[in-house]
Amino acid sequence: MDEQLINTHTPLETQQVARKLGYLLRPNDVVTLTGDLGAGKTTFTKGLGEGLGVKRTINSPTFTIVKSYQGEIPFHHIDAYRLEESHEDIGFDEYFTDGGVTVVEWPQYIEHFLPEERLNIEIKKGQDDHRQIILRPVGRMFKHITKELFR
Ligand code: ADP
Ligand code: MG
Repeated sequence: MDEQLINTHTPLETQQVARKLGYLLRPNDVVTLTGDLGAGKTTFTKGLGEGLGVKRTINSPTFTIVKSYQGEIPFHHIDAYRLEESHEDIGFDEYFTDGGVTVVEWPQYIEHFLPEERLNIEIKKGQDDHRQIILRPVGRMFKHITKELFR
């Protein structure tokens, strides 16, 4: 198994893990975030953006589906929650391939449009502020990244 597990105990700790991941990501990488409402997907996304050099505040794009930021490279934050099972393609591929990094919350709703290679991160709520962050590379490309995060 290439699965890796990280435990965090504060939102800041989750953001720090995400920031470290942000340093390792490369143009056209796609990260999918799964987990219940309030698990910490958007919190994680904020840290990831920081790692990629985004200076603007990253907020949940609940009413817009996609928000794009400029860091060292473009950073796209997609929240597919409102798409549910609509199977609507709003041009996802353009975000995935424009040389930036894309994060997708609720990727299960746009499963068909996701690239074959991606890094899935599941966040599980524990007691109080405890969270389990589980990294699962989908395809070969992201295996090195999960290892690198633990060096
Ligand atoms: P989601 O996007 O998954 O719905 P959010 O990131 O918007 O979740 O919200 C997560 C909430 O949980 C925030 O209020 C955050 O402060 C809180 N929280 C508490 N502990 C943690 C932790 N260890 N990691 C991430 N968020 C945490
Ligand atoms: Mg969210």
